[in-house]
Parts: sequence; structure tokens; C-alpha cells
Amino acid sequence: MASFTLHGIPVSRGIAIGRAHLLASAALEVKHYLIGEEQVEAEVERLQNAIATVHQELQAVWRELPQDAPAELGAFIDVHVLILSDPMISEMPLEIIRERHYNAEWALVTQIDELSAQFDEIEDAYLRERKNDIQQVGERVLKVLTGSASTLANLSSSPDQGAHMIVVAHDISPSDMLQFRDRTFAGFITDLGGQNSHTAIVARSLDIPAAVGMYNASALIAQDDWVIIDGDNGVVIVDPTPMVLNQYRERQQQLVRERKKLSKLKKTPAVTKDGVEITLLANIELPQDTQAALDAGAVGIGLFRSEFLFMGSAGHNHRLPTEDEQFESYRQAVAAMKGRPVTIRTLDIGADKPISAADETALNPALGLRAIRYCLAEPQMFMSQLRAILRASAYGPVKLLVPMLAHAHEIDQTLTMIEQAKAQLREAGKKFDPLIPVGAMIEVPAAALTLPLFAQRMDFLSIGTNDLIQYTLAVDRVDHEVAHLYNPIHPAILYLLSSTIAIGAKANIPVSVCGEMAGDIKLTRLLLGMGLKEFSMHPAQLLSVKQEILNSDLSVITPRTRKILRLMEPAAIAEAVAGLRAA
Ligand code: PEP
Ligand code: MG
Repeated sequence: MASFTLHGIPVSRGIAIGRAHLLASAALEVKHYLIGEEQVEAEVERLQNAIATVHQELQAVWRELPQDAPAELGAFIDVHVLILSDPMISEMPLEIIRERHYNAEWALVTQIDELSAQFDEIEDAYLRERKNDIQQVGERVLKVLTGSASTLANLSSSPDQGAHMIVVAHDISPSDMLQFRDRTFAGFITDLGGQNSHTAIVARSLDIPAAVGMYNASALIAQDDWVIIDGDNGVVIVDPTPMVLNQYRERQQQLVRERKKLSKLKKTPAVTKDGVEITLLANIELPQDTQAALDAGAVGIGLFRSEFLFMGSAGHNHRLPTEDEQFESYRQAVAAMKGRPVTIRTLDIGADKPISAADETALNPALGLRAIRYCLAEPQMFMSQLRAILRASAYGPVKLLVPMLAHAHEIDQTLTMIEQAKAQLREAGKKFDPLIPVGAMIEVPAAALTLPLFAQRMDFLSIGTNDLIQYTLAVDRVDHEVAHLYNPIHPAILYLLSSTIAIGAKANIPVSVCGEMAGDIKLTRLLLGMGLKEFSMHPAQLLSVKQEILNSDLSVITPRTRKILRLMEPAAIAEAVAGLRAA
């Protein structure tokens, strides 16, 4: 068979080479037949039993969730439990059996198809993606009805075989993804999914090369085909020629060598060739991630996304973590970092990070009641988080970071609430750092454009480029259909970034970048040239960024960056940014 190449969305770095293992297609073939009146109740009961079995299955998955499972997995299972309990799934198909006398499988598939068609009409990309969750839940019930076991569980994967196995699927449900943890796979490819779809998020936390949004890859790739995944570029090569295979094998070995070499930089201070010190911090989602941060040589935590505590096991019980539970998590992170600063961001939920199904019904979640807006609307919950963070500040240097601020009154209200939380703790005789620095995320264009408002009121600023790009370019960050428009070097973004850094420097207020741009080595020099001194990123990216810094000379990069900032034409900007790396 001739070799061919497919293009999708890169979600996880590295190269995987192996043989394709196809997971059964999402649309299970089911029998369609009409039942007699006397069989109706038995058929209803059969479907009810299957739904109950899936409930138990999901609960079992929850119970067996390994301690170190990414927090998102718990949240995904929650979503599936909610879907399963919804009358649209748990009751409507029963009505179809009663009214139309369809067999149980047919009734269920009819209802899922109907719901899927309704979801296709939805404009909001995040909600549209939930169609996949509904189909995954439907599939689970069908598997019980038809007696076919979970396809992923059927895979034989001795570590030897698994190391060369590439899983190809139309879609993989997050709970099925759990099984990846205990098995060795080289990588995976799915037809569905955007950059921030559930599967993509899990792939990144497991650090497996993967490509998603490949449209019809699962139909084009045959069982046992040789497959290469280039996770850096979102490219999949099927049945490569021996020459291509060799090239990628070499590249793969080179990556292993590079990783080894990089690990030697762990203790090297991040200083440019001309002697400017740069601070490299880590982004974490749970207290236990501090280990990866320390292993990568991070000098502190620049972004602790506290919302993951709310999406994990506590969220499973459909209650928020208490002040004491939160305090314990923050204290753990602070203690683990042994005197290095820990920047804890207050709750940033809503949009792509819902903690309950109710959040998903917002009209336009990214523009809705998320992050600080949500916190100010729920003062009791916010106060308990503020007290928990303040209490942790008695155990080591803590900074408090507030997401999504856009208005002066939001800043003022937040600062007032922080003072109230301090007063309450004083009264209760609880210790905290009275001078805890408070910072703002600059991630709404309005904030970047009115920076003095923030510089006057805050102790530090942190630029959230993920949202800044989303809001400036009006490109939904989770929608693969507009992923080609999501451009970090759009001149508008470069303007907002460079002006924020420059105004911050003038006002003598520290500015960091904690969005994905900070960990992209193709952009390290551009950010350095803008005057950025503090970068916060996923621990896995830290040492490559450090290497880039060690090889950079600000006296060369800075004037060249100034010139780039005057450019407007995208092609010229792209060329000049690439040229900086060669400088
Ligand atoms: C950002 O928006 O760049 C950011 C760091 O926050 P999050 O990705 O959690 O929205
Ligand atoms: Mg953000």
C-alpha cells in the first residue's frame, strides 16, 4: 500500500512510531426490530438495567481512579454521570420503546441520533463538542445491551507490544483514556477533538505523542498499518517508506538525546549571554505537580490553577472543597516548594472549565460569568478561597493572582474582599502573611489597553496569552474549526504584549507571561526582546526554554524585536520571528 500523510491538530509533543491498532468505530452496528406489546415492559427493563450497569461501571472507574490521575479525568467522568442521569437519556428512549415498540438498542440509538442532530445546530463550539460525550455515554449503554466488552479493555498489551502500538479511534472517551495509564502505548490518533478537547488535555498530562481532529483517519488507516505520529506538527504518516521511517527513527533518537542533555541544565541559572537574569517558573494544576516543577529546576510556581481542585474528587460529590480542604492543598504546595514562591490563582471556572453541568448551559460561556466574575457573584465561596490562600501564606511565600479582570471596580471589590478575609482571620487568631502580594492576570484586551488602572492597584501582573489571544482575535480556543486563526504572533497580540511589558517596566511592577506562549521555544527570544524577565510554563517545557535563554544575547535581540513590532504583514512578522532564533 502506498504511503500517505494526514494532517490534524498537534496536541502533545514527540514522535511515536508503531503499528496501528484500531478501536471499534463509535457507531456500533445495532439490530433494529419491532417488539410485540407484551414484550414492551421487559424491553424497558432491559434498557433500565443496562443504564444502571453503566452507572455502576462509571462509579467503579471513579473509585479506581489512581491517586495521581490527572484531575480532569474525574471531571470528565462526572460529565458522563450527569448525561446518563439526564431524562433525555434515561427516560426518553423508554418512551420510544413504549410508543413505537422499537427494541432497546434501536430506541437508544434513535434518541442519541436525535440529540446529536440538535447539538450539530448549536453555534457554541464548546457545547457542540459535548455531542461526543453524549455519544460516548450512549455507546457504553449499547455495549452492555449487546454484551460486547469495552474495546480498549480487549487490547492485549504486554509492555513490549504496547510500546509499538498506536491507538487509532474515531474518538476516545476520557474514562477509557484512564486505561492508557496502566498500559504502554506509543501514541494515539483520533478523528474528533480540538486543541483543548478532553482527549487532548489528557494526552498532554500523560505526555504521549498524539494528534487529534484528524477527520477520517480511523477510516483510512487499517489495522496493523505502520504509522508515524509527529506530535509536534500534528502530522500522521501511514505506511511510510523505509527512508521516511529511518528519518523519523533518527529524529526520535535525537529527541531522546536532547532530553538527556537538557536535564543537565536543571541547576544552571537562566541567564542570557549578556548577563541578564531570567526567572523560570512552573504552571501546576495540583499540589503534587510541584515535584515535576522541582525536577525541572523551576525557581517557583508562577501559576497554580486552583480550579482543578474544584473539578476533581470534591467536585465528584457535587460540592465544592471546604476552606480547610483547600488550605491543606495550598499548604502542601507551599511546603513542597521549600521557600520558593507559589502564585495561587483564584478560581477560574466557567467556559472550558465547567465545574457543573449548569455552567455549560451559559449562552456564550467564554464571555459569560467566568473566573473573577463568577467569584464576585458567589462571595461566600470566594471568601473561603481567599481565607484558605491567606492561611497557606503563613507557611512560605505565596502570591495571590486574580484571573479575567477587566474593570476597575472588579479590582477594587476583589481587594476589599481580600482585606475582609484578612480581618476575619485576624479575629479568629489565624496566621497569614499580611503583605501577601496581589496580582492581576492580563488576559482581557481591555485590561491590556488600560494597564495603568492595574499597575496602580496591583503588586504584579501576569499575562494570560491563551485568553488574550482568544479575546483579541475572537477565536474560540477550544474550537478546531477556527484553530488556524489562533495566531500568537498576530500584530495585535504583539502590540498588547509589548505594551504591557513596557508599561509594567516603567511603573516598576513585575510582569510575567503564564500562557502557552511562555513555553514555546520558537517565541522565547521574541518575548526576551520585548523585555520579559519572568516566564511561567508547563514543567516539561522549562529546560528547553532555559537552553534558548542561555544562548540568547539581549543586545542583539532587543533592537531586532523593536523592528518586528513595527511590522504589520503576517508573512514578514513570521519570517522575522523565525530569524530571531538564528540571531
Ligand atoms: C491564559 O489564559 O493564558 C492562562 C494562563 O490561563 P488559562 O489557560 O487557565 O485560562
Ligand atoms: Mg486564562
